[in-house]
Amino acid sequence: MADFTELYEKLKKEKAQLSEKLRELRALGQPSAERREGSPFGKREEAANEALELEKRLGQEKRLRSALAEIEHTLRKYEAGTYGLCDSCGQPIERARLEALPQANLCLSCKARQAKDAKRAR
Ligand SMILES: [Zn+2]
Repeated sequence: MADFTELYEKLKKEKAQLSEKLRELRALGQPSAERREGSPFGKREEAANEALELEKRLGQEKRLRSALAEIEHTLRKYEAGTYGLCDSCGQPIERARLEALPQANLCLSCKARQAKDAKRAR
């Protein structure tokens, strides 16, 4: 069996980084009284800015969360001994693909098919 230890370590590191970013993002979401008082903007502009910031933050948080979920899924596969196998057809995923994207869960042909299906669904 191929040795995926290095990729596994990479994934674990990435997971830690993503969790950290997510935590920072959430900490930013806490309203800060000091920041409010120190703001040079008028109340309305401030509220508009905050709404915009909040929207941006929620989008970012969503992306981080889905990236994190993907990595967690991959780590579970590693622990189950199925890392590197395609979720869809069960064939080994190309090594070069895993090197480039350790959290890949589909082989190239399944990925291509999925992309095509997604396009058709739209
Ligand atoms: Zn496949």
